[in-house]
Amino acid sequence: MRVIELLENLSDIYGIADFNKNKDELIESYGEDICRYPYAIAIGHKMIEEIIEKIPLTYNDDKLAQEYLDEYFNSHQRVSEIAGKIANLIQEEGYHAVILDVSGKSEELNLKQSFSNKASANLAGIGWLGKNNLLTTEEFGPRLTWATILTDMPLSDYAGEPMESLCDECTICVKACPGKAIIDDSNPKISYNPEKCGEFLFKRRDEGHPVACGMCLYICPFGNSKVEQLTR
Ligand code: SF4
Ligand code: SF4
Repeated sequence: MRVIELLENLSDIYGIADFNKNKDELIESYGEDICRYPYAIAIGHKMIEEIIEKIPLTYNDDKLAQEYLDEYFNSHQRVSEIAGKIANLIQEEGYHAVILDVSGKSEELNLKQSFSNKASANLAGIGWLGKNNLLTTEEFGPRLTWATILTDMPLSDYAGEPMESLCDECTICVKACPGKAIIDDSNPKISYNPEKCGEFLFKRRDEGHPVACGMCLYICPFGNSKVEQLTR
């Protein structure tokens, strides 16, 4: 199938969620419109490895902090372009394709709440929400940016199953977070405290530094061979 070939060529990781499997729960959470297009394609795109590897240095080097911040936004731009190419091919083949924006919404759909990339990738079976509240994959950890396409192209043969968390007993991001914004709990809604994370970032800003902190993204042993070896 041409769309699958293009996904394999352009993405670093992708997965497909079949909403028919979880229809009732999805409609209850997001409203009827979420199932107007029954498949979600989650597209993961790797951030530049060399920049991510320098995150521990960013706290003492504003130039590196800005470089990381720029890469954060640039990688979103790149994954949007990839999603655009895939959506165009789906449309050329006669189906609908709606790209959700970074906030998880689209003007075409009336959703009760955002349908995030985190939700689509988890339902597609390629990632889980870590204790740091980042979408984490087994191969690349959280070092990715994401886009989601909703479509009516029949893709059930390629759909995955929701993925369980692989965090288990790990507390590496809990200990490493400089804002003390992560606690050891298996529920990311409890483990990650966005207010504390924000407080740390705003403190950095008020001290004249770029508003960047990616320690929880860098330190996760999934995708970080150095930390993974240390923890083995
Ligand atoms: S961005 Fe920084 S402060 Fe916020 S949760 Fe991650 S490590 Fe902690
Ligand atoms: S560092 Fe450990 S606890 Fe934190 S998200 Fe990664 S695997 Fe989960």
